Amino acid sequence: MNNQDNLRQRLLQLDDSSYRAYKDIKGNYKFPDFTLIIDRVQGDPFASPSQIRVQLPHVVANFPSNLYQTRSREIALADYLTRQLDHAAMEVSSRRGTGNSGLIAITQIGQSVLERTSILIKDEFVEARLVVGLPARGRRISGYQAAEMLCEDIPKLVDKALKYQSLNHKQIQWQVETIEDADWLRQQLAQRGLVAFIANGSILPRRSGVDDRPLVEEAVAFQSPTQLQVEFNCPNRGLIKGMGIPVGVSLIVGGGYHGKSTLLRAIEVGVYNHIPGDGRELVVTNPAAFKIRAEDGRSIAGVDISPFINQLPQGRSTTNFSTPNASGSTSQAANIIEALEADAQLLLVDEDTAATNFMIRDRRMQQLIAKDKEPITPFIDKVRQLYTDYGVSTILVMGGSGDYFDVADNVIAMENFQPKDLTEKAQEIAQQYRIERTPEGGKHFGSITPRVPLAESIDPSRGKRDVKLKVRNVDQVVFGSEDIDLGAVEQIVEAGQLRAIASAIVYAKNQYINEHNTIPEILERVMGDLELLGLDILTSFPEGNLVKFRRFEFAAALNRLRTLKVR
Ligand code: ADP
Ligand code: MG
Repeated sequence: MNNQDNLRQRLLQLDDSSYRAYKDIKGNYKFPDFTLIIDRVQGDPFASPSQIRVQLPHVVANFPSNLYQTRSREIALADYLTRQLDHAAMEVSSRRGTGNSGLIAITQIGQSVLERTSILIKDEFVEARLVVGLPARGRRISGYQAAEMLCEDIPKLVDKALKYQSLNHKQIQWQVETIEDADWLRQQLAQRGLVAFIANGSILPRRSGVDDRPLVEEAVAFQSPTQLQVEFNCPNRGLIKGMGIPVGVSLIVGGGYHGKSTLLRAIEVGVYNHIPGDGRELVVTNPAAFKIRAEDGRSIAGVDISPFINQLPQGRSTTNFSTPNASGSTSQAANIIEALEADAQLLLVDEDTAATNFMIRDRRMQQLIAKDKEPITPFIDKVRQLYTDYGVSTILVMGGSGDYFDVADNVIAMENFQPKDLTEKAQEIAQQYRIERTPEGGKHFGSITPRVPLAESIDPSRGKRDVKLKVRNVDQVVFGSEDIDLGAVEQIVEAGQLRAIASAIVYAKNQYINEHNTIPEILERVMGDLELLGLDILTSFPEGNLVKFRRFEFAAALNRLRTLKVR
């Protein structure tokens, strides 16, 4: 194998050659402490940067094995190292010429702790994946700069961010234990009859709509009302207390600007773990929770929305409903049915982003517009059936309509950012002020029929390329010649998830999408493969920018592909 000196010599020889000559350095190099692998070399200084890996044997990295011996701990440690490497890379990264010359970077990360391909802890070594902008002057190679980057800066980075001896042992331990506790808590929820838990002392508000870090100064820490308080004895942290939200139908009520949506948002992202200091590290939610909202304009492919929508104008079918341009209520209906198809167990709805006519239909409106003139059966008449027929719970932010008191098991009121249990009071009020509306939901929710997606309707190719995928932030992905808009799929928290989802759709098409497999069967297989074999099965060579996603977000992306056809 070539070594560090060979690489340096080659780079110096390449100085001033045309940029393409960099292709020559692809390969493996033995450094004193690690192996450097150059997987992909960019074609010009402005193209997306080159991809490299370093593999550091455990004897060198030297992490005590208890820091990565379980899956939970391994993900926590890898996440910690990703963050360290990110900081260190930002420090050493510097402009070294045209385009992205000099860039050293790792995948973008947020507040969640997720399985990612940026750092992998394998049996023999720790592997880190980076992108580097190979330096150029104009379109000529800067060999000296490149040698400095790859042969000096990279080893410095490795020393700083990937060796146990140079890292903060206490912090690592804390990260690993925090994540382990959160995973443990999430696992306990079902047997305790809960769908979510928010620990006392949690900080739920964020700095701003574009800054997901915790609000610092004016933040009011969360404190459970006594009626809903539960205790857990965590493996690391020991005894903690907080609010448990039971299974069934729960309302979050309260005045405007009192913290309702902030609480729901924390519950939404409670399907993921968060770094210590985030404020939501002990907020955990049933992992099969899915945020439901109205999303007018989305496309829908052959969904049976008849539990909610019937008798549309022009006799349009609602048992096999397709449209390139859904309304607020039909989109929300489809979002629910698709979530159920993917086996969601908890629906999260916020009045801020729900369609009013989907949520309520009061007595006066029932009088004015007869049932046979209104295609929509409102959610209020279906939400209990979801629980009794399918065991699917709902948490609903609803400050605007007391009609829901009749169907709620729990009513939590937010008052000055603190929760109160107003269940009894709401039930008294429901008795005292009967609303006398006519229930319109029938006896049962209705059936969920899994769809079979057709392979020919899923085409990732564009022009001469068989597969063209490109991710724009967390809300859009280019899939062949289609754009998939995921702006309304709110539990996608990192762009890397979307990158992985796009590749997973291609993977699913090649492996499992045929004339027979239903969407739930396809989800089961894809997620099973990822669990067993890791995210690397999704790409042709090891990439550092893939992040684990849930079955629900995979289904959401597939469902929003505008060419999708189903049987
Ligand atoms: P609602 O949905 O009840 O109208 P929001 O959840 O949108 O209210 O919160 C309103 C504002 O209050 C937001 O700017 C939010 O960041 C802030 N906020 C929410 N919870 C807290 C809290 N616990 N401490 C301080 N500020 C908070
Ligand atoms: Mg709100």
